[in-house]
Amino acid sequence: MLSADFIKQQASALGFQACGIARATALPKDEFPLQEWLAAGFYADMDYMQRHADKRQDPRLLVDGARSIISLLLAYKPDRRMEGPHRIAQYAYGEDYHERLKRMLYQLMESVAGRYPDFSARAFVDTAPISDRHWAQRAGLGWLGKNTLLIHPQWGSYCYIGELVTTAEFDHYDTPMSDRCGDCRRCVDACPNHAIVSRGGENPFQVDARRCTSYNTIENRSETLPSQLDTRGYVFGCDICQLACPYNEQVPASIPLTNDRKAELEQLPQADETAFRRFTKHSPLNRIRYPQWRRNLKH
Ligand code: SF4
Ligand code: SF4
Repeated sequence: MLSADFIKQQASALGFQACGIARATALPKDEFPLQEWLAAGFYADMDYMQRHADKRQDPRLLVDGARSIISLLLAYKPDRRMEGPHRIAQYAYGEDYHERLKRMLYQLMESVAGRYPDFSARAFVDTAPISDRHWAQRAGLGWLGKNTLLIHPQWGSYCYIGELVTTAEFDHYDTPMSDRCGDCRRCVDACPNHAIVSRGGENPFQVDARRCTSYNTIENRSETLPSQLDTRGYVFGCDICQLACPYNEQVPASIPLTNDRKAELEQLPQADETAFRRFTKHSPLNRIRYPQWRRNLKH
């Protein structure tokens, strides 16, 4: 049995803002209504969301013998935002968080194995069929807001999420945090595309990707964007429903946006393909290809 406090101390020493631990079990359908979201067509053409739906619902099908999920948050709020007519979502200002977070997760595994030589885990950052925000909620790191993002009471929704899935058991597990949105619906009302929807009653809000700027500017591979899409100048991702959230207002900045980086981001719309590829090689913007970038700029 591993010490939960030890893991959390190691995670904090490595620079993670928060760490929580949940038992690996199936996520009930009312907690994670994936099938409902798929049946409504909200996944647009992200067919990969249909694949391995069973694993998304139950991480024990992803990692054989999994007993625990260690969820970790790394805050990314920049100290200022880029300016100009074209906007990039704040999470993509810096280096590719997949690389950075994976490095940190492996460092955490090493330090845990230093005390528990039999410890083994698999590290995930966005790339496997596991719903990181649901596990972060289960691990007591926040609640799922109406914009469907994880909201941490101190760090808001400006956090990258990663997890270690392990067969190890812990001496303590965290309690899921209950919803603190209350009657607020600022994010729902702020969305220029009415993409945050609910069937009413106790049904949770869901994002209809087909209407969402973030999906369309990143995942949509069509030659043109839907004509009615109101991007408000966003050409990669969208921050609008996060900027509207009161829990994000007091979040301290954790990443300085240097003058050089800010200038590079603001000049990117003028970049040719070679310069675009060079800039995006180690950036979250490498998720899209140059023709998509040009399409987004023209919309
Ligand atoms: S990311 Fe933008 S378009 Fe998508 S739900 Fe939020 S506000 Fe709406
Ligand atoms: S804006 Fe309001 S409803 Fe939306 S996630 Fe934040 S607190 Fe919840």
